[in-house]
Amino acid sequence: MNNFQYKKEITVTTALEAVNSNENAAFIAGGTNIIDLWKYNITNPELLVDINGIDELRTIQELEDGGVRLGALVKNAATAYHPVIEKKYPLLSKAILAGASAQIRNMATDGGNLLQRTRCYYFYDPDVPCNKRVPGSGCPALNGRNRMHAILGNSEHCIAVFPSDMCVALAALEAVVNVMGPNGSRSIPFAEFHRLPGDMPHLDNTLQQDEMITSIDLPSNHLYKHYTYLKLRDRHSYAFALVSVAAAFEMDGNEIKKARIALGGVAHKPWRNTEAEEFLKGKTATADNFLIAAENVLFGAQGRGENDFKIPLARRAIVRACMMALNPETQRPGAGPSL
Ligand SMILES: Cc1cc2nc3c(=O)[nH]c(=O)nc-3n(C[C@H](O)[C@H](O)[C@H](O)COP(=O)(O)OP(=O)(O)OC[C@H]3O[C@@H](n4cnc5c(N)ncnc54)[C@H](O)[C@@H]3O)c2cc1C
Repeated sequence: MNNFQYKKEITVTTALEAVNSNENAAFIAGGTNIIDLWKYNITNPELLVDINGIDELRTIQELEDGGVRLGALVKNAATAYHPVIEKKYPLLSKAILAGASAQIRNMATDGGNLLQRTRCYYFYDPDVPCNKRVPGSGCPALNGRNRMHAILGNSEHCIAVFPSDMCVALAALEAVVNVMGPNGSRSIPFAEFHRLPGDMPHLDNTLQQDEMITSIDLPSNHLYKHYTYLKLRDRHSYAFALVSVAAAFEMDGNEIKKARIALGGVAHKPWRNTEAEEFLKGKTATADNFLIAAENVLFGAQGRGENDFKIPLARRAIVRACMMALNPETQRPGAGPSL
C-alpha cells in the first residue's frame, strides 16, 4: 500500500503551485495511463494533483488564423467526433479512433495522450533492468524480445517506441504544444516535443517536471481532402501499432503540391522525414514515387532481430497509405489497393 496525498485544483496557477510543492508530485487527467503505471509500481507519486476541475482546458476553439486550439483536458473521443475537427482535420479524427477502445477514448485526454509512456514489456516489469525506468540499469530489449520495438532513431540505451496514434497525426499536421510553468508560458513545435532516446531514455519529451500542457494548436492547412491513417497491428482493435502511417496531401490534379508523412510504432517519437516530403513535392502521385519516398523515410532503419520485419512492413505501409490518401473512398474497411 502506497500512501499518497490527493488535491483537486480548479485553476492552472494553483495546479502548478501544487505540483511544484513536492518533487514527487504528478498531475492526473483521464488517469488511463498513470493509474496503470502506479499499479505496476513503475511510478509512485506522493502527491496526485487532479486537474479535471480546470474548465478552461476543456474547450475546442477555432482561431482567427483558421487554426484550431484543443484544450489539454478535451477527451480524445470529444476531439475525434467534434464537427470542426472532422471537417478541418479528419486525419486527426481517424488516428484517434484507431487507438485504444471507445471506453478509454472517452476517459483519455488530449494532453495525457502526448505524455503516455512506452508499452515496452521490460519497462512495465520492475523486476528487470530498464534504462527508461532506472537510468543506467541496462536494456534487455536490445538482444531480447523486441518484436514491438524501434527500427529508427535508436540508441544503444533504448529501443522502446512511443505508442500514441493521435501524436502521429499531430506530427503530420505540425501541431504546436502550449505549456505553462512557473516562469510563464511557452510553445513547443510538435517535432521538438518528443525526444529520441540517446543516452537519456528516461526522458520521453521536452516538457519540464514543473510544467503543464494547457493546449495543442492545429495550424490552418488544406490537408483535409487527401489523407489517411493506416494502422497495422496484431489485432484489428484494442492493440498498439506495429507500424502506422499518417499520410496527407494537397493535390493539383494528379500532382502533389504538399506532402506529409509520419510514422508510428517505429521510433521513440512520431517519425517524420521532411526530405521524403520534399521529394514528393511537384511529383505525380504514383506508387513508384511513393516507394522512393518510403525508402527515404526509412533511411538508416535497423532491426534488432524479432522486429526486422517492421522495415519491409513499414515500406509497404507507406506506399499503401499514400495511395489510400489520394482517394478517401478507399478508406472504407477492407477497401484499398493491396500492395
Ligand atoms: C488498454 C489500453 C489500450 C490503449 N491503446 C492505445 C492505442 O492503441 N493508441 C493510443 O494512442 N493510445 C492507447 N492507449 C493510451 C491512451 O490513449 C492513454 O493512456 C491516454 O491518452 C492518456 O491520457 P490520460 O488523460 O488518461 O492521461 P493520464 O493517465 O491522466 O496521464 C498520463 C501522464 O500525463 C501527465 N499529464 C496528464 N495531463 C497533463 C497535462 N495537461 N500537463 C502535464 N502533464 C499531464 C500525467 O501526470 C501522467 O504522467 C491505451 C491505453 C490503455 C489503457
